[in-house]
Amino acid sequence: MTEATGIVGEFLSLKEGTDADLLAMQCGDFYEFFAEDAETVADELDLKVSQKSSHGSSYPMAGVPLDDLTPYLSALVERGYRVAVADQYETEDGHAREITRVVTPGTHLETSDDDAQYLAAVVRDETSDGDATYGIAVADVTTGQFLVTEQSGADATSAALTELYKFDPAEVLPGPDVRSDDDFLDEIRERTDASLSLHTTEAFAPGRARHRVREQFGDETLESVGIADAEAAVRAAGAIISYVDETGAGVLASMTRLQSFDESAYVDLDATTQRNLELTETMQGDREGSLFDTVDHTVTSAGGRLLREWLQRPRRSREELARRQSAVAALAEAAMARDQLRETLGDAYDLERLASKAASGSADARDLRATQETLALLSAVGDLVADSERLADSPLAAVLDRPDREAAAELAADLDEALVEDPPGTVTQGGLIRRGFDPELDEIIDDHEAALDWIERLPEREKERTGITHLSVDRNKTDGYYIQVGKSETDAVPEEYEQIKTLKNSERYVIDELAEKEREILRLEERRHELERQIFERLRDRVAARAEVLQETGRALAECDALASLAAHAVRNDWTRPELSDGRELVVEQGRHPVVEQTTQFVPNDLRMDDDRQFLIVTGPNMSGKSTYMRQAALITLLAQVGSFVPARSARVGLVDGIYTRVGALDELAQGRSTFMVEMQELSNILHSATDDSLVILDEVGRGTATYDGISIAWAASEYIVNNVAAKTLFATHYHELTVLGEELPSVQNVHVAAEERDGDVTFLRTVEDGPTDRSYGIHVADLAGVPDPVVDRSRAVLDRLREEEAIEVRGSDSGSGTTQAVFDLSSGQFKTGGGGDGVPGDGGSTPAAESATDGEQLATDGSHAVGESADAGSALDPEVEDVLDELRDLDVNETPPVELMAKVQDWQAELDEE
Ligand code: ADP
Repeated sequence: MTEATGIVGEFLSLKEGTDADLLAMQCGDFYEFFAEDAETVADELDLKVSQKSSHGSSYPMAGVPLDDLTPYLSALVERGYRVAVADQYETEDGHAREITRVVTPGTHLETSDDDAQYLAAVVRDETSDGDATYGIAVADVTTGQFLVTEQSGADATSAALTELYKFDPAEVLPGPDVRSDDDFLDEIRERTDASLSLHTTEAFAPGRARHRVREQFGDETLESVGIADAEAAVRAAGAIISYVDETGAGVLASMTRLQSFDESAYVDLDATTQRNLELTETMQGDREGSLFDTVDHTVTSAGGRLLREWLQRPRRSREELARRQSAVAALAEAAMARDQLRETLGDAYDLERLASKAASGSADARDLRATQETLALLSAVGDLVADSERLADSPLAAVLDRPDREAAAELAADLDEALVEDPPGTVTQGGLIRRGFDPELDEIIDDHEAALDWIERLPEREKERTGITHLSVDRNKTDGYYIQVGKSETDAVPEEYEQIKTLKNSERYVIDELAEKEREILRLEERRHELERQIFERLRDRVAARAEVLQETGRALAECDALASLAAHAVRNDWTRPELSDGRELVVEQGRHPVVEQTTQFVPNDLRMDDDRQFLIVTGPNMSGKSTYMRQAALITLLAQVGSFVPARSARVGLVDGIYTRVGALDELAQGRSTFMVEMQELSNILHSATDDSLVILDEVGRGTATYDGISIAWAASEYIVNNVAAKTLFATHYHELTVLGEELPSVQNVHVAAEERDGDVTFLRTVEDGPTDRSYGIHVADLAGVPDPVVDRSRAVLDRLREEEAIEVRGSDSGSGTTQAVFDLSSGQFKTGGGGDGVPGDGGSTPAAESATDGEQLATDGSHAVGESADAGSALDPEVEDVLDELRDLDVNETPPVELMAKVQDWQAELDEE
């Protein structure tokens, strides 16, 4: 290709100087994309491509009008592109162009979405002992929010990834040490929709970053926020500030407050748990049907954002929760005041976003009007609260006292004094500023209006003077002001009328006097527009300087909205205020699932967990409601730790430090990861992370592998949780064998979802009762699902036989001639006998993994039709199998870390597979 010159050459050389994906270059009244960029943009946005010839070559070109750039930029950025914008400016010899900003997913201001839009930076510092400390900074340029946190210790990497997942950033800036870590970057890509952007290494350098942070937030801030020594966090924060600065978003002024994010103040909810509990979207990825969607009755976008944040970050502090609860309780009781409050809040605009727009200079007069109206609401809302005795005595009053009410009222009054009631959407055409605000402007406006008045009276004067009846005065772009006279009367036109145009039925004229007035009007208009623009910009700068007042007021109104939303939901759905305790209890009377109760005639059920009932094994038929019951327990705990009421007649919730769940995850399958591996990783994570203050929900463990090791793992994991972790745990299992644990370990109890079987038909009662079930109703479900009768009948026969034989099925390897089936004898006595020396320390219980491999069991791995085969064969086992069994026998489950346990099981499987 020949070297491009001219405008395309200029485009290409500007493009070379930026690492943005696309460049939009101003050419007069258009922004143009050339060459490959034109084709990309045309494809993405359905624009027309034309050809631009330049010195013998031809280049694709696509353009958008100057004023229309924003929506196109938004669309491109939302598709993950970083777009550089080059503006044109006048110089002495013509004009030049320069890149003025780069719009990226994390620095895009004109987002159409109400959700937070986070830009994150992540830095890793290796410590001398080989451990790593991660520093994470997160900023939302649309609201000015700015947070930093550090993660260190053995689990630092996964904790850092979890933090990133929670923020779900639009864009991530990996620090120099993270950039080369493919695994880490892959995890970010997998867990978030963020685009990864490269920012200069120098920006992450400790000295430089610290300097930027001090410059932005003040010299004392690092100390007062308590992160002066947190170098990784400071590096990440500095990088964000320089990135926002360099991309030209122009919002640094709205980043007024640095907040350190103390993870220990929040309930630990890992990514899997957030997904499993369907907090903000369902497992299928829909918003509808999520917890947030169900409980959200906020009337402002800022309120919605806050409520969502609350759900994603439940609190641990009893004080904070009690405060929210009291406010919700007051709002729930004060029905009238609540409705009025919500109605008033409904008029509020998004002040945090308006602060950023003012700071970036993109706010127009309508935005400042919206700012004024919303600031003024603060005192209206304050009055409403003060007028209701119930609310005035509640913590809601303190929420509204947080922002500087005087400053808010003052700013609102100033804006009101300056701006007209209903300003236009452009700031260059005047009509923005009220009369009486600026004497100079008033004078111009007076003169302007007098001149316009003169023009308005001109037709009457001329009609009288000339006797012409069809005479009018008008103005258009090409002719300016003119006098128009109907064709029939042109004879009567006086001589000073200078004709400028002939139309079909009329002639157009000007007179000197009119031309002079026109010049005066144009002069006045120009001065008026310019002066109004200046006054407006001063006003906008003043608002930007008070960004903090806007943000504080915005946050206070958002909090009222979120609290009122919780109250409204509680009242509508008959929720109750949970009692919060520091004990390890969870006692729920007549509890319901907050989402399922919306669409189903929900059968309430009870739950009692305490020191004596710390680990509940939940059994029951398929589809009877086990998962629902367990998730309900988790959601009631979560809601209680948001400060919300809960769906129950009464509830006492011991505060937890984390909620961990493991449920069959469909989406992991779609990602091509082995489900069993994922299941074990999740289990491993829970066993490592949960503490005796946590709540653990296990919905089937070990199901992804053969029954034999499935049970072993489930059993060992249960024992480990009971003995070593001591977390409150609900464990649903279809391994009926596990219910024996309830007899062996004092804090383990069995509960089951009741079902009634009559004449072969099963009715699910949905109530949960103490004690285990002893049946699987799978065949009934198969029947319901339309599995052919012969299969259903045969299954019943096989099941009967199995029960008689006290044998259960084991699935072996898939190699060779199809599925190998085997049966091993599992008379319940075997699992229960023993209690010997190698039992669970201190409880005299049994160690099933060791005991299950005693002489009484056989494996028939010959692929023969083993069902119903006698269990007393005692046939010699293959030596390989013997080896595996030996190892299994010798293994001390209590002393083996879960991950190692898992690896062993996999080894064994591999060895057995080789058979
Ligand atoms: P399981 O985990 O035992 O297979 P699920 O918890 O998935 O069963 O529940 C099966 C179905 O029963 C779901 O559609 C759920 O909405 C419904 N369900 C569960 N519990 C109740 C209840 N208490 N009242 C009414 N419907 C329920």
